Amino acid sequence: MTKRRKTIGGNWKMNLNRKDSIALAEKLVGETDMQSLDLCIYPALPYLDTVAGVLAEAGSSIKLGAQNFHGKSNGSFTGEISLEMLRDIDCQTVLVGHSERRHKLGESDVLVNQKLRAALDTGFDTTLCIGETLKQREADQTNAVNTAQLCYGLAGVTSDQLRQVTLAYEPVWAIGTGESATPEDAASAHAAIRRYMEFAYGKAAAAAIRIQYGGSVKPDNAAEFFAQTDIDGALVGGASLEAEDFLRIIQLA
Ligand code: PGA
Repeated sequence: MTKRRKTIGGNWKMNLNRKDSIALAEKLVGETDMQSLDLCIYPALPYLDTVAGVLAEAGSSIKLGAQNFHGKSNGSFTGEISLEMLRDIDCQTVLVGHSERRHKLGESDVLVNQKLRAALDTGFDTTLCIGETLKQREADQTNAVNTAQLCYGLAGVTSDQLRQVTLAYEPVWAIGTGESATPEDAASAHAAIRRYMEFAYGKAAAAAIRIQYGGSVKPDNAAEFFAQTDIDGALVGGASLEAEDFLRIIQLA
């Protein structure tokens, strides 16, 4: 059986100011042992470069991630940010398809796919987030929604490029609500996601791809998620804003 390295993301969203972003990054570089897992933090865009400086100064292997971007290259897109710019400040990885961007900011499956492919073409590691709403869950559509989001999101992504991809299953109703999926429900969704990946990319690729769980992961529930065979880490929002909580989750992974 393929042994997958755990991967933890800290999605700071539209939180923390410059001072607090620096302080949190400094605590993380000082206290994380990166031998056994991959760790990535996603500060708010105005502070990415500053946090990049903290990571570089410490020689840290924590990866710097961007929560959002527009296109590959620079150009006339007022207010937007290119992958070229992100690379210039040593950003290595990006999120696409986060439910807040899908549901609060109207990003479509087509746009998610365009962004994912642009990021992969530019050499970025990319986390594709998928997950069902409460209404879809209640209608028993969890696996159908996840499959559709994978199918659209990964359209045109080659097996080679898939090595740059991590998946994050984040049920929309569990994000930022304090109400997480049960580890069993999450495990069953993850297993279905892996089955779809096997159908689409074959056994070896499906066994290798990492699938994070996201949605109200906290120090007191993280261990149960990490104990599930198909859960390879977590994408953490609220609990990644406090060094103590986030470090505890990292330790448990
Ligand atoms: P949460 O957010 O941990 O605050 O639920 C997770 C996410 O949005 O990635």
